[in-house]
Amino acid sequence: MKTKSASLLLVLAVSVSASAQTTHFDGQTWWDHIKVLADDKMEGRDSGSRGERAAQAYAVEQLKKAGLEPAGINGFYQPVRFVSRQIVEKDCSLTLVRDGQREPLVLGDDAFIGTRIMPAPEVKAPMVFVGYGLKVPEKNYDDFAGLDVKGKLVVIFSGSPADIPGPLASHYQTLLERWKVLRAAGAVGIVSLINPASMDIPWSRISLNRAHPSMELDYPEFDETAGAQLAVTINPASAEKLFAGSSHTFAEIAELGKDRKPLPHFPLAASLEARTKVETEKLESANVVARLPGSDPTLRDEYVVLSAHIDHVGIGAPINGDSIYNGAMDNGSGSALVLDMAASFKKNPEKLRRSILLLLVTGEEKGLLGSKYFAAHPTVPPKSIVADVNVDMFLPIVPLKVLRVLGLDDSDLGDRVRDIAQARGVKVQPDPEPLRNLFIRSDQYNFIRHGVPAVIMSVGSEPGSPEQKIFKDWLTQRYHAPSDDVNQPVDLKSAAKYEEIVRSLLINIANDDHRPQWKQDSFFRRYAN
Ligand SMILES: [Zn+2]
Repeated sequence: MKTKSASLLLVLAVSVSASAQTTHFDGQTWWDHIKVLADDKMEGRDSGSRGERAAQAYAVEQLKKAGLEPAGINGFYQPVRFVSRQIVEKDCSLTLVRDGQREPLVLGDDAFIGTRIMPAPEVKAPMVFVGYGLKVPEKNYDDFAGLDVKGKLVVIFSGSPADIPGPLASHYQTLLERWKVLRAAGAVGIVSLINPASMDIPWSRISLNRAHPSMELDYPEFDETAGAQLAVTINPASAEKLFAGSSHTFAEIAELGKDRKPLPHFPLAASLEARTKVETEKLESANVVARLPGSDPTLRDEYVVLSAHIDHVGIGAPINGDSIYNGAMDNGSGSALVLDMAASFKKNPEKLRRSILLLLVTGEEKGLLGSKYFAAHPTVPPKSIVADVNVDMFLPIVPLKVLRVLGLDDSDLGDRVRDIAQARGVKVQPDPEPLRNLFIRSDQYNFIRHGVPAVIMSVGSEPGSPEQKIFKDWLTQRYHAPSDDVNQPVDLKSAAKYEEIVRSLLINIANDDHRPQWKQDSFFRRYAN
């Protein structure tokens, strides 16, 4: 009796909401894909690994099932070559030398040697503190003015001064832009001081990650750090060691940097001596590319890209006895969304004028490499790509009431997202944490660099709300940890609502008379010329 009346109510409720707003997603099919992609069998989907290959094979099978056309080089695949670099730490050392006194740094505890810059076997150089280490011509800002860094290691406090807008600051903090400036100034390498105010994860876990090999694209055209000899990251808890004997302390720098205040510039009393050994290995992976063809005789030759990275960080140092970094949210969630989207267009076809390109890239965790390769060598004519909607770790772990949109004010994609979200009672929010550099931290950035308007959206929260705390805890405990697995609470309704917004956005871009446009005052518009 009770059951019956309840189910009658349910029928009524469903038909009302169905007439008001067709719903294509239930969250469950999305979650089912994640269960496959983030299974221990996929071994954390490290770029070029057999786990990643298995995940890609699953994705291709799903895309085929949804009736999509292959749009890679070898069917759905676009091969990408990498060289991986593994530090051999037992053969490495870092030593501070001050007034003839030698003070070794403990690798892992005090500092570690990065491999995104290929380290020279031996480096010995004086150090100079250069504040944020930025040169931003648009703002007449130059940390290197009047400073001699030739033949020296520059010590940089990560972050940026408050009067430099987020996207601009993010742009100049990319390794590519940074090294252009440092190379011109004659620096030999970079010592990074982490801003304690913008640490996503504690040092213990940052330091554990150093055991993962780094990768670069194995093509000369992508060498961004020619001439660089060393990159070192220092534990904030050990950073005073560098400043001993100089005119300033790290505590003082961190206090100023926390509020993005101007920082001083000065030589350090110590030089740094580094001995390093790195083993390199060549390997191959691929991007997966599929096409949902449009129907307009002219516009179908234009493409709306929906992208997500399928790789994660693989197997690493164990935490609580678990060494598989499953990457359920990062970015099983985005990959699953792409597959779910493909299925939804088969189940509920939509007349699309432009074509949609579904793109699952590799190498994101190694530095946005798969998307960098694709954006430079797209499998469709470069000018035919009208937009990139990127999905990376959108975190439906709370109900979707606020949608955080990076790139919200940079192109009219932001306006379209705003309309679509608001029609569903969802509020949009621009980047609330410019210090975290999120706009350059996922694959949309490579499209932006090639002039393509792009957005990346995720479930957001109001400042100071309980939800904000949930996100903060998630980052501290699960981000890039083995516990980002399928045994974590997610909100399937929130995921479904997010997918619905993405679907509406794709349809809007595919069918609008006009290609998305950069806003006149967006910094990123420069790449479109
Ligand atoms: Zn990640």
